[in-house]
Amino acid sequence: MNFSSKLLENAVAEFAKLPGVGQKTALRLVLHLLNQDKQDVERFSTAVTKLRNEIQFCEVCHNISDQKVCEICSSHRRDHGLICVVEDTRDVMAIENTNQFNGVYHVLGGLISPMDGVGPSDLQVESLVERLKQTGDKEVREVVFALSATMEGDTTLFYLHKKLKNFNIPITTIARGIAFGGELEYVDEITLGRSIATRIPYENSLSK
Ligand SMILES: [Zn+2]
Repeated sequence: MNFSSKLLENAVAEFAKLPGVGQKTALRLVLHLLNQDKQDVERFSTAVTKLRNEIQFCEVCHNISDQKVCEICSSHRRDHGLICVVEDTRDVMAIENTNQFNGVYHVLGGLISPMDGVGPSDLQVESLVERLKQTGDKEVREVVFALSATMEGDTTLFYLHKKLKNFNIPITTIARGIAFGGELEYVDEITLGRSIATRIPYENSLSK
């Protein structure tokens, strides 16, 4: 692309770094911003900068949060004996939308993927083990895994099950009404809600 302005070129280059945004879309977005009021653009850039600078991760579950401990972890109305392990914050949002889960979460921050060079130490695995060590098997009655039905999801599930099986805590997984290869966030609310309500012991999920 030949740009008539260096400022325009720079802005387009930055937008084009976003996932799923090509040069043409980036140009369309930048030209759109140029048509907006200066105040609106200011608000936009402030929101992005503030998000990056001020966002926190909950000390307990590692979900994105505005406080040190997120609202779910600090709520007395949640069942702290039921921990749902998920890949990232999108899964927490998807499960919360079903209104079928009243426990708490543990956000791994990704899935084990040797192809992409992501190992257990890149994820919040040790902190899950620590969390269970500290709360003990008296307080936690069940750990339910709600991971994508993909190769990475299954690898992560297998690894974590091995890590956690010495705790005397039942480990379950959401019913795989979710097709293999299905990403959790794209599953509709009713299917996901049903899956989380009818979870099954991890061992049973293997024989299928
Ligand atoms: Zn939390």
